[in-house]
Amino acid sequence: MFELVIGLEIHLKINSEKKLFCACRNLQDFIKTQPNSNICPVCTWQPWSLPVLQRWAVEKSLLLWRALKCSFNNPSLFDRKSYFYPDLPLGYQITQFYKPYGKEWTVSFYNESYSNSTNVGIHALQIETDTAKTIHDGDDSFIDFNRACTPLVEIVTKPDFRSADEVTNFLKEIQRIARFNNIGDADLEKWQMRVDVNLSIRPTGQKEYWTRVEIKNINTFSNIKAAIHVEYARQLEILQQWDTVTQQTRRWDAESWTTILMRSKEDALDYRYFPEPDLPPLLLDETILDAMNTSELVIPADFIQLYVETFGFHKEYINVLIGSPVMHRYFHAMLLHDFEPKSIVKWLAGPIAAYCKEHFVEIDALPFDQEKMIRFLRLIQSHAITNSQAKIVMKEMLATGDDPDSIVSAHKFDEAWLSEEQLMEIISSVIQKNPDAVSDYQGGKDTAIKFLMWQVMRDTKGQVPHTIILEKLTTSLS
Ligand SMILES: [Zn+2]
Repeated sequence: MFELVIGLEIHLKINSEKKLFCACRNLQDFIKTQPNSNICPVCTWQPWSLPVLQRWAVEKSLLLWRALKCSFNNPSLFDRKSYFYPDLPLGYQITQFYKPYGKEWTVSFYNESYSNSTNVGIHALQIETDTAKTIHDGDDSFIDFNRACTPLVEIVTKPDFRSADEVTNFLKEIQRIARFNNIGDADLEKWQMRVDVNLSIRPTGQKEYWTRVEIKNINTFSNIKAAIHVEYARQLEILQQWDTVTQQTRRWDAESWTTILMRSKEDALDYRYFPEPDLPPLLLDETILDAMNTSELVIPADFIQLYVETFGFHKEYINVLIGSPVMHRYFHAMLLHDFEPKSIVKWLAGPIAAYCKEHFVEIDALPFDQEKMIRFLRLIQSHAITNSQAKIVMKEMLATGDDPDSIVSAHKFDEAWLSEEQLMEIISSVIQKNPDAVSDYQGGKDTAIKFLMWQVMRDTKGQVPHTIILEKLTTSLS
């Protein structure tokens, strides 16, 4: 039997105000921008220009470094990684290699159902520049420098992943950290997070690694999973034919569902890394570190732990809360009003999440404000309306934005649907049919009333508010 051995190189685009080494804006979406409209001599790499490190990118990457709780080199150093490509006309990329910014540490992340967590070793975290972008149009090719010199954080993991699921779960954790702390949108489809997968296989239980293959720049979770499965099968087939896997760089082709050879053997040596002479060491002084240590930071994994262990939420609830920072903040704003956590999340993950999905909006764009939501939850908390009535009220609030109290009055939910006489008849009959529960209650067992309540609720088809039933029932039994 063979097992998968995977290490990742993740490039995360950070949303700092400026590019990494010049004062040009750091755009997040290039599609709507005129090519080469946001450039200067530095980011088009004119021979006489010099890079100047901009603080914005450093601050954003510091947040990531803190959220991942890693150790770091202070100072860290910049290096040149030499290679030529049309979108890198200078012939080298400025990165960190010999002394990167974040170093050796371990990060734990949850599995898909949030029932377990796994650890992965991180080899390095470094800041580097992105390249320009090549645009192909028929037989012509163009270079757009808007993206050139924008900052990326590269996270290099150890070969600690053993399955495609572990890989995607870890990537989701990185994505959440980036989104919750406004470090970047980390949208794979917009190439704001790009992933290189280093994959080898080896006999299960063996310690030494076999030759790895790098699959470059895969850009959706489903493509990452597919690429891993396909490459695993390819390597397995080679071994079954008593052949050996050769070190290669391949790319994923989603159309043919295969990995395609780009180039063979490529080692660090091929890049001729050497220290960047135009940039001083990056030294973070105490003032910067103090400011960073006191700034607010959201660690999604800590919230997942709270949801699982303290609130007992299931996977679907957690997915909704942790899937959007805005939803997450809304939930915590509601928690401040002493509602039972499940009674809040039930509505957020149910009709409200469905509304947001249908209308392509976040929860802050609902037709009603937080005050109305609080009043709605209070109606449920005080049992003034039944569960089925609450569903109707929420539906109308989402459709009209109306106040929950006026919806309740309009539907006469605050009145019993049957006459008092009819209700008293049902109550008397329940009391008559359940002498044991009645004597338990009268003997001091308070919980027995819940059983009687349930009987009345069933016989009144859930249409009479709990508060009214409880009041009538206790009066009849006293
Ligand atoms: Zn520039």
